[in-house]
Amino acid sequence: MIETKGYAAQSPNEDLAPWEFERREVGPHDVQFDILYCGVCHSDLHQINNDWFPGIFPMVPGHEIVGRVVNVGDHVKKFKVGDLAGTGCMVDSCQECENCKRDLEQYCLEGNTQTYNGLERDGKTPTYGGYSNTIVVREEFVLHVSDKLELAAVAPLLCAGITTYSPLRHWKVGKGHKLAVLGLGGLGHMGVKFGLAFGAEVTVLSTSPKKEEDAKRLGAHHFVVTSDEAQVKAALGTFDFILDTVSAEHDFNMYLSLLRTDGTLICVGVPSKPAEIAAFSLLGGRKSVAGSGIGGIAETQEMLDFCAEHNIVSDIELIDIKDIHAAYDRMLKGDVRYRFVIDMATL
Ligand code: NAP
Ligand code: ZN
Repeated sequence: MIETKGYAAQSPNEDLAPWEFERREVGPHDVQFDILYCGVCHSDLHQINNDWFPGIFPMVPGHEIVGRVVNVGDHVKKFKVGDLAGTGCMVDSCQECENCKRDLEQYCLEGNTQTYNGLERDGKTPTYGGYSNTIVVREEFVLHVSDKLELAAVAPLLCAGITTYSPLRHWKVGKGHKLAVLGLGGLGHMGVKFGLAFGAEVTVLSTSPKKEEDAKRLGAHHFVVTSDEAQVKAALGTFDFILDTVSAEHDFNMYLSLLRTDGTLICVGVPSKPAEIAAFSLLGGRKSVAGSGIGGIAETQEMLDFCAEHNIVSDIELIDIKDIHAAYDRMLKGDVRYRFVIDMATL
């Protein structure tokens, strides 16, 4: 077994603290890479707090992982020692079902294996995430990372990046579309970058007036403060798509009123409580509510390659792992500029 150092929550709502654990030896199809940076996703906070469902503890969060390969199994073809590598929210899937065969491993009919707070395919071995110094992942779930981009700023692409890239590609959002990005946080700011890269007219819908300058710097064409009635009124019925990245409860009916006829609200944010949606919010204007979960492995590689080609990375604040709870506190206040990334050298 491989002795591994990480940060774990021993039980729900408990502070993370240093913890040592073991990872499996490198098998014939495995890649081991030492973790250099790991992004901090709001899903980490949801899961250590049991916001969605009872978690598996001790829990080592982290699913925006980049680093350098230190060992590969005998049958590994795509990686060699010294390569940069990344892993996102999944480390395995059945690889045989209809969805896996369509490169939609995130929707594996048997359930994908989450990078942490999940169980390996044996149904009993817990998975541990990227707030740690090294990881072993089967080759199919390891991504190639370009050395052209700042590595720490690439880490968030593995979740925040693909989670916003995938729906914008699926719904073919681009030139001629008015896209609103709801919530300017980790996911939201990547949604703005991809929306612009795909040619859409982008508006940020935010509860934080002080983020207007940042939104404009990111290139957003418009900024709407959602607590300002006059600004909201002016935006009624104007968007083709709303990419909803909000992590907390919010009024879906209000946001649906901002869509034009045939518009689609795409949920990627995952509040802990279900939303109430009135039929009237949908039928007046034939509107849709849709959802999207991360992205498949092939699409994640496509997104990373797209980012390397177009020089797209996340805006980050690099933190020491001992400051993780200060980062979570700021995240809960919507005060993220725009992704915290842990420098794993501080572990
Ligand atoms: P984040 O950085 O904390 O950003 C969330 C943003 O939502 C905040 O910055 C804030 O933006 C806005 N917000 C917060 N509370 C709000 C409220 N009560 N009403 C309206 N807006 C509010 O979080 P993140 O890491 O981007 O993650 C966002 C959500 O996506 C989380 O629920 C996460 O679990 C989920 N997620 C889903 C997937 C998937 O596969 N679908 C993948 C990753 C993450 P403003 O200050 O601009 O209002
Ligand atoms: Zn995430």
